[in-house]
Amino acid sequence: MKIEVLEKDDTNFRVIIRDADVTLMNALRRIALAEVPSMAIEEVVMIENSAILQDEIISHRLGLTPLKTDLDTYNLPEDCTCQSEFGCSQCRVTLTLDAESKEGTRTVYSGELISENPDVMPVSDKIPIIKLAKGQKLKLEAYARLGKGKAHAKWQPVSVCAYKYFPKIEITSKSCEDCQKCVDICPKKVFTIKENKVDIRDLLQCNLCMDCVEACPKEPKGIKVEWEKNAFIMNIESTGVLPPERILQEATKILDKQLKEFQEKITVEST
Ligand SMILES: [Zn+2]
Repeated sequence: MKIEVLEKDDTNFRVIIRDADVTLMNALRRIALAEVPSMAIEEVVMIENSAILQDEIISHRLGLTPLKTDLDTYNLPEDCTCQSEFGCSQCRVTLTLDAESKEGTRTVYSGELISENPDVMPVSDKIPIIKLAKGQKLKLEAYARLGKGKAHAKWQPVSVCAYKYFPKIEITSKSCEDCQKCVDICPKKVFTIKENKVDIRDLLQCNLCMDCVEACPKEPKGIKVEWEKNAFIMNIESTGVLPPERILQEATKILDKQLKEFQEKITVEST
């Protein structure tokens, strides 16, 4: 398998994967969505809430606040040696919030949450949690734990995880009369005109919609759009909880572990 990185930053990761097949790509996509663990607030103890929102709504909002995840330090609650409902220092992080409005109305943002571990903090400090009117108070203790997207979407580390086939476009100089119809219709602006001839500007943008082929007035068509069966463009957008390349790495580890378990089960069943 060959991997070529197209784009990479803190939240986005775009790669070309060659010599893979659709089953593998889909397995990785589904594992990234549903099985790669991340941190999220799971329990909230309200100490004081004189704000207008009920405890449950505030807790729900806190749960959906993405938290930077430290996968190497913490265990999933079900795998932790403590096996305790309340968790221990290896499977739980405590965050506290103590907010009050002394003058006028003010918004409490995620940046006011104080974590016992500075590595597990809200991804952004500008997520609004609640508005407090003068004299209102909100004091709470929240417990974050590792979890998986298949149990609740708040544990999903990706906002986008998708792949598409690698496009293959051919402009047949014999039939193409450079009428530009394909250039105008393409929603992704794949084509351009170069020296009065239709040319490919950005092949990777093609989403195989076939609008260009339909727009071509010639018969046989002056343009041929196909895809490579064993090459894919994968796009991973992290919510910020983990670096996107780490999400892909973890997905491959989980797939490997699941396949080993499957293999062991077959061996046990057949003996
Ligand atoms: Zn524990």
